[in-house]
Amino acid sequence: MKKGILYIVSGPSGAGKSTLIKKALKTVDGFTFSVSYTTRERRPGEIDGVDYFFVDEDKFMELKEKDEFLEYAKVHGYYYGTSKTFIHEKLEQGYNIVLDVDVQGSLNIKTSIQEENPVLIFVLPPSYTELEKRLVGRGTESERDLAKRLEDSRWEVSKINEFNYVIVNRDVNESVNQLISIIIAEQLRVCRIENGLENRVDTFFKKEFER
Ligand code: 5GP
Repeated sequence: MKKGILYIVSGPSGAGKSTLIKKALKTVDGFTFSVSYTTRERRPGEIDGVDYFFVDEDKFMELKEKDEFLEYAKVHGYYYGTSKTFIHEKLEQGYNIVLDVDVQGSLNIKTSIQEENPVLIFVLPPSYTELEKRLVGRGTESERDLAKRLEDSRWEVSKINEFNYVIVNRDVNESVNQLISIIIAEQLRVCRIENGLENRVDTFFKKEFER
């Protein structure tokens, strides 16, 4: 069976990554979203096991000791980690996976599983002022957490050249279309078709000779 593709979506907190991912995944088949572990507090409306697995720091460290994470990072003061078993199993089963991780996480995955040829997508807000406006507007962070997220965004944006694609998120619909386009384009890359391509080339020429 053909292995799935791993798409990693990153960028500053408040850039709109999770909204874009949720909307894009409604329109494409054969995809699954990886639910991460986190030690941060659950926000109103978030569901355990759907948005995140919410765990305390002891549990998180226990999972880390058991080597359960493909990558983990301390992001804006809390731990976040991606399940290794989930990613490997789903890719083997042929599912494409979308990960929403911070920039450290993306760079770690890029080096740790190069052989999977992951696709790195950076979601950039139109400006720093706009990012600040969005973060303040959503009202989910304390003043201290908000300041940390804004401060961290400068380092995150400085790593943009490590990514394959960038989406400047000015308009949600336009950005969703761009994300879907990237997803589809990657599936059509010759290097992803593997042996299937040889079969197709063979069949093509066989037909020609049969005439
Ligand atoms: P939030 O607390 O706003 O849901 O997420 C904060 C940041 O943590 C976001 O940039 C998000 O992409 C990142 N994040 C979520 N899950 C993971 C993960 O498993 N690993 C890493 N490295 N970052 C994550």
